[in-house]
Amino acid sequence: MKVGIYTNKLTSSQVTKHKLTELLLQNGFEINDKEPDVVITLGGDGTLLAAFHHYIKQLNQIRFTAVNTGHLGFYTDWQNSEIEQLVESLKKDDGKSVSYPLLKIIVHFNQTNRQPKTYLALNESILQKITSTLIADVYLGDQLFEHFRGEGLCISTPTGSTAYNKSVGGAIVNSSLKILQLTEVASINNIMFRTLGSPMIIGPEDKLTIVPSAKSDYFLTVDSESYQCNQISRIEFALCKQDIRFVKYRHINFWKRVQKSFIGEV
Ligand code: NAD
Repeated sequence: MKVGIYTNKLTSSQVTKHKLTELLLQNGFEINDKEPDVVITLGGDGTLLAAFHHYIKQLNQIRFTAVNTGHLGFYTDWQNSEIEQLVESLKKDDGKSVSYPLLKIIVHFNQTNRQPKTYLALNESILQKITSTLIADVYLGDQLFEHFRGEGLCISTPTGSTAYNKSVGGAIVNSSLKILQLTEVASINNIMFRTLGSPMIIGPEDKLTIVPSAKSDYFLTVDSESYQCNQISRIEFALCKQDIRFVKYRHINFWKRVQKSFIGEV
């Protein structure tokens, strides 16, 4: 098995990387960061997100597993004190994996000669206006659903539902469900302007399109990255056919993970 190690810059991660590399080599694994079968991330959720984007063109070949070298992470199944157990599990690998849905984002531009841009998100994508209120039309399929005014719109995956989505009042969604969620960020609701005002769960067949009104600058956030976009004609959001796969040795039950991360001992 070819194993890639993807780490953040923290000293604790570098120390763990050194130990893990030795352990993997002693146990007959090949370290291969270019074309790995399994990628082990050392850090937190941000490191796993960065590794996902780093290996985005190889998602078909790669399974991920994440070791936490800092405070408690949401995607991380292992603590850095448990790397011996992780290597033992890798030795017994039977190729099983658990998959989580991804969000596909296609940005279309006003200029006819400008190619659409496609992004994949593991957590979410957020559309915001930089200097003033975001004014946008929200379509579900071909139907104009609402005129939105406010700070922004967040579209999250099930695993992303515990991240930014949760902070803006979205529901926490079981990661096994193939759905997306649309949440409003500080929408304006009064006698003049009206939005649904509730988070919406969007099914696998529903295509969500956002048409921002003014021809000016927007921030499109995709997980940890923000892109300044101008001249957007529309943005399409849908579940991606491609999933992210994690190795299944130590798959923690979703609701246990939620409880452990947000509630603690009961
Ligand atoms: P970061 O990497 O510093 O992460 C910020 C926090 O979000 C960390 O505590 C991280 O553990 C947590 N997090 C990330 N993914 C999570 C998930 N799926 N479930 C639960 N917690 C999760 O910040 P960044 O690099 O700027 O952005 C990475 C992610 O952090 C974004 O995708 C976004 O969802 C999240 N974030 C959340 C808020 C917020 O809740 N207000 C603000 C910024 C970023």
